[in-house]
Amino acid sequence: MSVVLNETVVSQVQEAVDEARLLDTAVALVGIPSPTRSAGEVADKLASVLRADGFDVERPVAGFEASPAVVARFDTGRAGRVLQFNGHLDTVHLPFVPPRVENGVMYGSGVSDMKGGIAAAVEAIRVLRDGDFLPAGGVMLTAHDLHEVPWGDGSQVNSLIADGYVGDAVLLPEYHCHNCPVVGRGQAMFQVRVTRDGEACHEVLGGIDQPSVISAGAKLIERFATLDAELEKLVHPLAGRESLFVGQVHSGEMFNQSPTQLMLEGTRRWLPGNTIEAVRGQFEEMLSAVATETGTRIDADFRVSRDAYEIAEGGALVRSFQAAFSGTTGAELPVGAKPFVDDGNAFVAAGGVPAITHGPGALGAHTVNEECPVAELVRVAAVYALTAIAFCANVGD
Ligand SMILES: [Zn+2]
Repeated sequence: MSVVLNETVVSQVQEAVDEARLLDTAVALVGIPSPTRSAGEVADKLASVLRADGFDVERPVAGFEASPAVVARFDTGRAGRVLQFNGHLDTVHLPFVPPRVENGVMYGSGVSDMKGGIAAAVEAIRVLRDGDFLPAGGVMLTAHDLHEVPWGDGSQVNSLIADGYVGDAVLLPEYHCHNCPVVGRGQAMFQVRVTRDGEACHEVLGGIDQPSVISAGAKLIERFATLDAELEKLVHPLAGRESLFVGQVHSGEMFNQSPTQLMLEGTRRWLPGNTIEAVRGQFEEMLSAVATETGTRIDADFRVSRDAYEIAEGGALVRSFQAAFSGTTGAELPVGAKPFVDDGNAFVAAGGVPAITHGPGALGAHTVNEECPVAELVRVAAVYALTAIAFCANVGD
């Protein structure tokens, strides 16, 4: 069954989105530097903007005292679903670029990733409340710190989820808009250290008799390549294949010295159906086999970012979102995979809450050149409000 939004509602919502008000919010958020672990001040700002708009705001600590999360709700009081808008207020650690708007484009730290998207979600809640557009149910906005790796570990959104700040479905306004992602691979980063006993020493002064950490590393990389060739056969029609990738390796100081250490780093990505435990177990088995064969010690930091996930293409969230998207643009988005991992994976993993990442067509995430067309922020606000209208009222389908 497809969800249809009538043209009148679509145009009323589009007209109700207030570009100047949305931009004021975006400028206020971007104007406060908030590198990961230091988003307290911008969270306070978002809370005060929402309170000034008449929303009740909660500030659950969610495991991080330095910047409590921000939660605001609009509830119609009529039984229905709750659609959640979730975003992170922290930015990557790069030199701060203050906000400015020029020729219809907004610039500044975090405008793409993802304060612009959060401002659009805030505008969507205002539109839904002020226009009395929601037939039933409600919406909830959640915003938090600790997203960006390696400074953050995703634990604040995990705590929010564990504490019950979860809707019946979630939209996340990250800079992704070329498809409707219904599947995403899980991802872990690993750092492996191969070491041997003793000191570094000259090749002819005993070095040649030491276990070679370089040979052990080479063996390990060879095993990884063999496994990666196996993983190539595990393919999802939308999400691509599983993989084990090595991105850097370092060892040794000079040509005739036996080193004591080798370090290598990379990623492991897996598909829905596989599990974190199985992937980790398989990885650790390879390390201990090579350590035994080579007389070295091999330790690894195998850090899981997020698990793989998949949501139903025919589910209420996807149908509601597609109705909203096609209502504003004339066509549905192709369904596809999410190329990166984000907090959406966590919502699906923690109890099957469907989540779609969709935000402005913005550029320059994780650089000092973030830019986002104002028209995209306006579009996202309308899509979010319209998705809620379609999603929240339709229960039991
Ligand atoms: Zn982001």
